[in-house]
Amino acid sequence: MTDTQVEAFFATLRAANPQPASELSYSSVFELLAAVLLSAQATDVSVNKATAGLFARAPSPQTMLGLGVEGIEQHIRTIGLFRTKARNLHETCRLLIERHGGQVPRDRAALEALPGVGRKTANVVLNVAFGEPTIAVDTHIFRVGNRTGLAPGRTPLDVEQALLRRVPAAYRDDAHHWLILHGRYVCQARKPLCGQCQVAALCDFEPKPE
Ligand code: SF4
Repeated sequence: MTDTQVEAFFATLRAANPQPASELSYSSVFELLAAVLLSAQATDVSVNKATAGLFARAPSPQTMLGLGVEGIEQHIRTIGLFRTKARNLHETCRLLIERHGGQVPRDRAALEALPGVGRKTANVVLNVAFGEPTIAVDTHIFRVGNRTGLAPGRTPLDVEQALLRRVPAAYRDDAHHWLILHGRYVCQARKPLCGQCQVAALCDFEPKPE
């Protein structure tokens, strides 16, 4: 994909969805961090169902810590890996209070030092909550980056770095959301919907199924 095509690719996605947003429900930076932490290997819909009750009871690190691991588990049983996630979330809350005054830090190293928070989660928080032009590479973005020729790479970090080089500055803030939504609803894993794809003329993938 040439640079001109990359520009056209994002211009097309932006025209279709000028203000893309996360599909996770949250009302604070802390809730965003918790929701992303809980979303590993789970759908946003399943996470939103669980966090509706959880965040009503515990909207802050202090109140979440007060629930205890078992209290958190009660709310998130329907999500995969809930025991590990409950432990990680509980310990993350303890560290947020101990190290960061109960605030979510705007710092990659500090975020990645929290249990259950890896590079992808840190990127989502830095991008969505703090407006930094990071691009978190999840399974959808990894696939779209490789399949289209936009940002080929063998690992998520390769794809992330390729995207940061290739995505024009004007699109970098929202690239994460456009690519996730495109991968989730159009450029799907098993059978991409190329016949309905608005960026098909710009995409390297061949042969394109109808
Ligand atoms: S044309 Fe097909 S493979 Fe290319 S981005 Fe669109 S859906 Fe994905």
